[in-house]
Amino acid sequence: MPPRGGTRSRPRSPRGKPPRHLADLDLAGRRAAVADLGEPPFRAVQLSKHFFGRYTQHPDDMTDLPLTSRAALAGALLPPLLTAERELTCDDGTTRKTLWRAFDGALVESVLMRYPDRVTMCVSSQAGCGMACPFCATGQAGLTRNLSTAEIVAQVVAGARLLADGQIPDVPGRVSNDPPVPPRPPRVSNVVFMGMGEPLANYASVVAAVRRLTDPVPEGMGISQRSVTVSTVGLVPAIAKLAAEGLSVTLAVSLHAPDDELRDTLVPVNQRWRVAKVLDAAWDYAAVTGRRVSIEYALIKEINDQGWRADLLGSLLAGRLAHVNLIPLNPTPGSKWTASRPGAQREFVRRLESHGVPVTVRDTRGREIDGACGQLAASVSAPAPAPS
Ligand code: SAH
Repeated sequence: MPPRGGTRSRPRSPRGKPPRHLADLDLAGRRAAVADLGEPPFRAVQLSKHFFGRYTQHPDDMTDLPLTSRAALAGALLPPLLTAERELTCDDGTTRKTLWRAFDGALVESVLMRYPDRVTMCVSSQAGCGMACPFCATGQAGLTRNLSTAEIVAQVVAGARLLADGQIPDVPGRVSNDPPVPPRPPRVSNVVFMGMGEPLANYASVVAAVRRLTDPVPEGMGISQRSVTVSTVGLVPAIAKLAAEGLSVTLAVSLHAPDDELRDTLVPVNQRWRVAKVLDAAWDYAAVTGRRVSIEYALIKEINDQGWRADLLGSLLAGRLAHVNLIPLNPTPGSKWTASRPGAQREFVRRLESHGVPVTVRDTRGREIDGACGQLAASVSAPAPAPS
């Protein structure tokens, strides 16, 4: 969030880490931190309500706190973490990508997508990514660093504030036979960890972020766990660990090929954890959580879109608690690969369905602003100020 007014200096962070923020701490930790500042512990709840319930971190907004304490409390527990470097919109303003600069200059992107019935925030969990998938823009530049819990949460809170401020228009051309419902202020209803980074390679911060996002206000933001999706290349031990967290989040597995030979090249970590092992971990996750697993499959023309691969995928998934999310490839700059032909895509869907496997084709919001899947590259050739 851009800093506003005031003369607060940025707290120094130890060991090159992002400054500590209340979203890094649970409520007990926030109470202790507030007490360390010589303030009554209940101020932790007040600060938390401002951040998680009203999406503000600015002392001027905190009129329920004594004027003398505001700046010190906000300075110590609500330091600005991310500064909007650039914002791009498309789809009549209902899709908005933000390029964020962190305290150390690291760049990450998040995308907000407003639909008639929901608002989805696609967030980054790392600056860059170490998984090196050749069709993904983020994968090309390697890993810069893990994001902190609060840096992840701050992306969602920033989106919530845009909505609350009326900056994201309602979806036009809404056609519905449902009886009219009274307008409600829009909220971020869904969060997908499908921005930059491999969430399960930043496990502790991501799981803590999920808790902050889904715990009720003032502990957290109060988003439903079932509306949160964690997407992974298939880090098998981390999938098993996630299953044991007692969370009801949706697991998405980026499969992209049903056979090890091809998957070794499309998702290089497959050389460590093979298709069969990844799917076993996914079925264990489904059994423990009761949640249907989403199998992500970017359709790449003449690479992974053959009928026999659809049949092989269908046979691997038949009868499982899973559905397939086909993503038409968003070509990254310089890539020799393109999306499958419409006929090949239709045939792929048909074959999966013939195995009784539910299939959806992902819409490609944000394409023109390089905000669609796999396009988040955080490149700033000529930094432009965010629109005011
Ligand atoms: N590291 C996580 C999150 C990555 S992004 C993961 O791999 O799951 C979320 C999804 O977008 C993944 O399924 C990823 O494989 C897919 N993706 C990446 N690049 C893409 C591209 N160019 N076109 C379509 N989908 C892409």
